[in-house]
Amino acid sequence: MPATDEERRERMVETQIAQRGLTDPALLAAFRAVPRHLFVPPAERAAAYDDRPLSIGYGQTISQPYIVALMTHHLAPKPGDVILEIGAGSGYQSAILAELGCRVIALEILQPLVDGARATLSALGYHDVAVHCRDGHHGAPELAPPGGFDGILVAAAPAAIPSALRDQLAVGARLVIPVGPVFDAQDLVVVERHATGTSERSVLAVRFVPLVGHD
Ligand code: SAH
Repeated sequence: MPATDEERRERMVETQIAQRGLTDPALLAAFRAVPRHLFVPPAERAAAYDDRPLSIGYGQTISQPYIVALMTHHLAPKPGDVILEIGAGSGYQSAILAELGCRVIALEILQPLVDGARATLSALGYHDVAVHCRDGHHGAPELAPPGGFDGILVAAAPAAIPSALRDQLAVGARLVIPVGPVFDAQDLVVVERHATGTSERSVLAVRFVPLVGHD
């Protein structure tokens, strides 16, 4: 008998996330809860739990599950946090953050993907996610809490970190962002804001779609 979506999802959580060292129970519970197959186009549904990115149309992709998990791990969100997400795409990453108790402000530059993400998220009851159609290079300063965002996660790669994003981090908050040349060797970078200045470290070599628009 072919595996059900639930069985495929459980196997994804075990083999792609937990066995690769990401074992936080809340993180694993979020990946168990979100029906990834509903965030991909019908033609990709059978592959929804595969260990790779998938096309979501318009030349864009939904990231590999492990990469979504790793970025979420480094963001280290807490329930009640207000997170800025740039490059909402399918809305899958937003749903994971909502499952972790965050309020999500998601920016996406392509209107059809905005419409799709809104429809999927609202059909699944994720009402704490607001998806806006706009260029994420400048962040969303007017939507930030008074002290700044509790975390910023970017799913498309700029050549260099936009300074507006550092400026919109609360003290103690992190920015998780791929940085590097278009479709070439990029680094997944974690920036942390301190009372005085920021620190920065690279965690993995990655390949994301480019952050389009201008700096
Ligand atoms: N997190 C997404 C992955 C989407 S891929 C998911 O779970 O499905 C990256 C997305 O970034 C694409 O949808 C692309 O359209 C978007 N993007 C690219 N440049 C952008 C920009 N300047 N501002 C906002 N979104 C952008």
